[in-house]
Amino acid sequence: MTFATLGLIEPLLRSLETLGYQTPTPVQAQAIPAVLAGRDLMAAAQTGTGKTAGFALPLLQLLAMEGPKVTANSVRALILVPTRELAEQVHEAVRQYAENLPLRTYAVYGGVSINPQMMKLRSGVDLLVATPGRLLDLFRQNALKFNQLQTLVLDEADRMLDLGFSEELANIYRALPKKRQTLLFSATFSDDIRLLAGQMLNDPLSIEVSPRNVAANTVKQWIVTVDKKRKPELFVHLMRKGKWKQVLVFAKTRNGVDALVDKLQGLGINADGIHGDKPQATRQRALDRFKASEVQILVATDVAARGLDIEDLPLVVNFDLPIVAEDYIHRIGRTGRAGATGEAISLVCADEVNLLSAIEMLTRQTLKRQNEPDFEPEHRVPDTDASGQVVKKPKKPKKPKASGGGGGKRNLGRWVDSGEIAPAEPSIKPVRKVPVFNTGPRKRKP
Ligand code: AMP
Repeated sequence: MTFATLGLIEPLLRSLETLGYQTPTPVQAQAIPAVLAGRDLMAAAQTGTGKTAGFALPLLQLLAMEGPKVTANSVRALILVPTRELAEQVHEAVRQYAENLPLRTYAVYGGVSINPQMMKLRSGVDLLVATPGRLLDLFRQNALKFNQLQTLVLDEADRMLDLGFSEELANIYRALPKKRQTLLFSATFSDDIRLLAGQMLNDPLSIEVSPRNVAANTVKQWIVTVDKKRKPELFVHLMRKGKWKQVLVFAKTRNGVDALVDKLQGLGINADGIHGDKPQATRQRALDRFKASEVQILVATDVAARGLDIEDLPLVVNFDLPIVAEDYIHRIGRTGRAGATGEAISLVCADEVNLLSAIEMLTRQTLKRQNEPDFEPEHRVPDTDASGQVVKKPKKPKKPKASGGGGGKRNLGRWVDSGEIAPAEPSIKPVRKVPVFNTGPRKRKP
């Protein structure tokens, strides 16, 4: 199969040739004809599967071939994305695909001045990539009209909900014309997303190019158990031992990112960090420098987890496990992209056992443990498996009072080794909410 047989027009084929895309990926093979035919879509695709081109190429073709010329402050196609970085990245891909088409494209997002964006929108934009909050600001300030809108794309829809954008999304829908094409893309599909899809989509075609909620199988994944306070030391040890060249590291909090970056820089290691507290320009610069291999270690909160496309990223390290298990899939999806192999290592302490268990249940695999000599934790991480079970510490046998003490050494009990328990059948049911998921109000900027 070729892009030409999918019905793409010559100016797009030329752009693809320049980019070196030869064969459509599975998600592209299914999405492109469906979008060209005007269908609504609900697409679940693994990260790195080429989903951006899957929606952007047919969208650009429809904009070029059909519909009116865009008028002042109007937009004909809107791509909503959860983060500023993703907005930049998707727009960059769109710009490349649209190279040979007479279409105006643009990206708007928060964290930067709104005035230049308002100026740019004055003459109208055929395709706009936007984060929900900034889009609403622009709409409320009359810088944007939706009367010409023909297509809405929700990219990383689950992430938008995770980040607490559901109210913004509801306000945006209310402002959009009812008659439109809607494409919903998400790497993972929670029940909330399915509900949203039910409300928004009209007779959608479902595309699922990989099993639900399964991490890319080109990524070799393993964990190292360690005490919490020794994680920085272990990270540096593994880095030196493995001669890591370029690593994307995920930490749970902004403070965690800053602390690790300070520690690494203090050791003369070329590291930088990105999180929601940093100005957009600083974040983008750090990311650009990392992509250009000018920064060796980039430490990030989950704001960087989705959608970032860094060519040939060999390694992702979870310095902390994510609170939301699905973020694990997104994080490790930064490596092993477009068929390349990658490695994902998680440093796991005893506090994180429930998070580990939720990840294993979601990805239906027991992550291989590879303990590091001299870093074996004092607080052992209980065994877990893909059934979502944490093997409970056996009850301490009651000692007879007169037994003579035992030399003051703490009896930690005996843990059951993973080899001693029958491996549970991997769940084949659709995975519902895992108990440790953070279901409370979520932060906008991790
Ligand atoms: P995405 O999943 O959209 O983030 O795309 C992942 C990466 O695959 C990006 O670097 C794309 O440029 C690349 N890509 C997408 N489609 C193709 C294709 N058909 N052939 C080669 N590379 C592709």
